[in-house]
Amino acid sequence: MTRPAHGIERAVTPCATVLLADNPGPMTLDGTNTWILRDDPDRRSAVVVDPGPDDAEHRARIVTAARQVELIVLTHRHADHSEGAVLLAEATGAPVRSVDPAFRTGTAGLADAQVMSAAGVTLRVLATPGHTADSVSLLLSRAGADPHAVLTGDTVLGRGTTVIAEPDGDLGAYLDSLRRLADLSGLVVLPGHGPELPDCSEAARFYLAHRAERLDQVRQALRERGLTPGESAVEPVVEIVYADVDRSLWPAARSSVRAQLRYLRDVPAK
Ligand SMILES: [Zn+2]
Repeated sequence: MTRPAHGIERAVTPCATVLLADNPGPMTLDGTNTWILRDDPDRRSAVVVDPGPDDAEHRARIVTAARQVELIVLTHRHADHSEGAVLLAEATGAPVRSVDPAFRTGTAGLADAQVMSAAGVTLRVLATPGHTADSVSLLLSRAGADPHAVLTGDTVLGRGTTVIAEPDGDLGAYLDSLRRLADLSGLVVLPGHGPELPDCSEAARFYLAHRAERLDQVRQALRERGLTPGESAVEPVVEIVYADVDRSLWPAARSSVRAQLRYLRDVPAK
């Protein structure tokens, strides 16, 4: 598969363009998507969601694309999304809104159902914890109109599936978040990594099915080996369930298995 070029601004919806950061990897896919939002391509200002890693070149491209940065928003605290936030704020004077207080520039946080308006667009916060405890999704609309897209950070990716990240990822919370996203039909998914997806509800239902399948595989692996869902089961379960997955991804697989075992301990067999 050819990798999309980083640094080229690409229009995705009438209110959203994407700039791909130059940080490809097994966890970041092609790199981090930085989203530039405004109601009209001619508007002189924009909202920036997930400025990405600390990369001066990427930052310069963001400033060029946004013209004037009115507001910076983070979907979650991971460095591949957040590292450049404070530097971009310093360079532009724009405030940073995030659940994690570490990135805020004296501004308010982000809470479920909160609404932010800037650059002619409205963002409504949908708390979607699970990948991390501080993960949010953002419903995007042109001011006064119904939402047409949802920014999902790493909760729903454009390709593959996401990990339940340690230490604060939580599979139970994640499944609840996916159920909330499954209610949003007809909205374009603007993910933190990978290509946009046509329908949020469809994407969330695919993820829910994938998670249910993985959980069944983990339960079966435990039964096969006569193991209880504790720490000592992590390695044997990874070996069985992720046998067909490239070993470079096993650290993430361990993290996911640990989250699944924790979930199975808390939510006994159904
Ligand atoms: Zn990420």
